[in-house]
Amino acid sequence: MQLLETVNTLREQLALARRAGKSIGLVPTMGALHEGHASLIRAAAAENDVVVVSIFVNPTQFGPNEDLAAYPRTLEKDMAVAKEAGAAIIFHPPVKEVYPDGNATWVDVEGPLTAGLCGRSRPGHFRGVTTVVSRLFNIVRPERAYFGQKDAQQVQVLKRMAADLFFDIDLRIQPIVREADGLAMSSRNTYLSPVERQAALILSRSLAEAKRLVAAGERNTAAIEKAVAAFIQTEPLATIDYIELVHPSDLARRETLTDTSLLALAVRIGKTRLIDNTFLEVS
Ligand code: AMP
Repeated sequence: MQLLETVNTLREQLALARRAGKSIGLVPTMGALHEGHASLIRAAAAENDVVVVSIFVNPTQFGPNEDLAAYPRTLEKDMAVAKEAGAAIIFHPPVKEVYPDGNATWVDVEGPLTAGLCGRSRPGHFRGVTTVVSRLFNIVRPERAYFGQKDAQQVQVLKRMAADLFFDIDLRIQPIVREADGLAMSSRNTYLSPVERQAALILSRSLAEAKRLVAAGERNTAAIEKAVAAFIQTEPLATIDYIELVHPSDLARRETLTDTSLLALAVRIGKTRLIDNTFLEVS
């Protein structure tokens, strides 16, 4: 496995691969790799000859009061995880490689896809995500790119960006990987103290509670959101950012459940903001 830090060296290697007729899969990450990232890398390795894992803590997707400086950076361990999962190349550029001096160009998906959910509490976040992912797409020019359903809104925003900008790249979405007790894996879980780690189970448990309500016949969006909020409020360390039950592709709210709905939530456990989601199916 190669560790490459510049756009030029990466492009040289990828040109060689392309000339040899090899397909390329890209897994964009911010590092601090865990089993969720590994599942994306394994999926990419199963479908492509060469897997590029980018590790880049993208400054433009962090707000001024967010955790950019504190974000975990664990390159040595990440390299072992990525190699084990089947990566051929780690692309780990410094900020100036991705954002050359005088950077002036942004990619921004406007409208309802970015207005609600995380877009409401993290203004500018998705503009940073779409800007960096479009740059990575142009640098790597993969056949396929791999993203996790863990970031459900990001998935829809990136699908829209790829369609609107005619990126000829297949976005391959992988299911959420969870710890044995249900907590969705996240690089930010490392911020949690042991007591907070236990309290964080309230997120996945509240999703299970919503599923139980739907199985019992509840179809009203507001009633389900209210019940999930009440459930989460039983945990003293939890502060709700949002709980929203939306259509899985346009992310707009409906009065009643559609065939498949997306229940998405963001909750602070102490100072750590965690997200989780699930599909609710009406049979
Ligand atoms: P991040 O490093 O947090 O920016 O995440 C990089 C990619 O890994 C994104 O596409 C995430 O959705 C995905 N990812 C993060 N956590 C998980 C998880 N628990 N299960 C599946 N995919 C994940």
